[in-house]
Amino acid sequence: MNKSIIVGVDIGGTTVKIGLLKDSGEIMKKWEIDTKKSTDGTTVINDIWESVLVKLNELAIDLNDVLGIGIGAPGFIDGEKGYVYEAVNIGWQEFKLSDYMSRKTGLPVFVENDANIAVLGENWLGAGNLASDIIAVTLGTGVGGGLIAGGKILNGVNGTAGEIGHITVEPDGHSCNCGRRGCLETICSATGIVRQAKKYIEEDSTSKLAQLEKKNGAITAKDVFELAAVGDKDSIQIVQHTADVLGFVLANLAVTINPSKIVIGGGVSKAGDLLLQPIKNSFTKYALPRTSEACEIRIAELGNDAGIIGAAYLVKENIS
Ligand code: ZN
Repeated sequence: MNKSIIVGVDIGGTTVKIGLLKDSGEIMKKWEIDTKKSTDGTTVINDIWESVLVKLNELAIDLNDVLGIGIGAPGFIDGEKGYVYEAVNIGWQEFKLSDYMSRKTGLPVFVENDANIAVLGENWLGAGNLASDIIAVTLGTGVGGGLIAGGKILNGVNGTAGEIGHITVEPDGHSCNCGRRGCLETICSATGIVRQAKKYIEEDSTSKLAQLEKKNGAITAKDVFELAAVGDKDSIQIVQHTADVLGFVLANLAVTINPSKIVIGGGVSKAGDLLLQPIKNSFTKYALPRTSEACEIRIAELGNDAGIIGAAYLVKENIS
């Protein structure tokens, strides 16, 4: 029998995205469930498998046609062992995720960090075009990152490789979720952009940003980009600073792995060219000319599906 269906799972702090995919990466069915946290980590896994069985049944897919399960999870992960050192958002600590899931389902299970499966997905069917050296950065509430070098995802000795969001950019900067100060994430995430905007608002209560905050009761990263697009000076400065810091970090990373592609995803990347162009300028300014000449910077293409598509790729690559 030809096993050609793959289950792709992308576990987040509040929701789990799940998909049934063909081995071409085509999504046959996708849905979401809530992430229920528990100390031993098993609740969310049991919920996932229960919902997969329901959908397989709905689509009349035999369990024997399923090739395997790919899972992306937030946290520090040993991809080879399928072992989660720690995933704070889900309450996991030293959890043998692939062993547990595999025993439960009787299927091969492969696990990677969520940012890593997103880069695998983008590299397979999105903006990456199967580059063997690529950097992906996700600008959302936080900043995630994934690196592929020489065709391999980099995990490092204990799962912290590619944690781009926690590269220090301001030694005495704002405090970060990781317990340190001045990480990239404190500036280039949606949260960081809002914090920058608040500083401008404090300094000038008559500014466009301040007026918008008064009107809406809050300010968002999207507001900052919208105001920058219509020429608001403060907002343009925030976008410039954000792009400059990110371009600086990407240039240094690029000199390390010499990628042919850098893919920028996440909610903040919806700003498109308004953000991309200044990042490119900054990148060119800080990288070796030979490094930047070989490297194309693009906005991610798969949106929220990158994770489940990358999870499917993980299964395909490991089994074939
Ligand atoms: Zn940090």
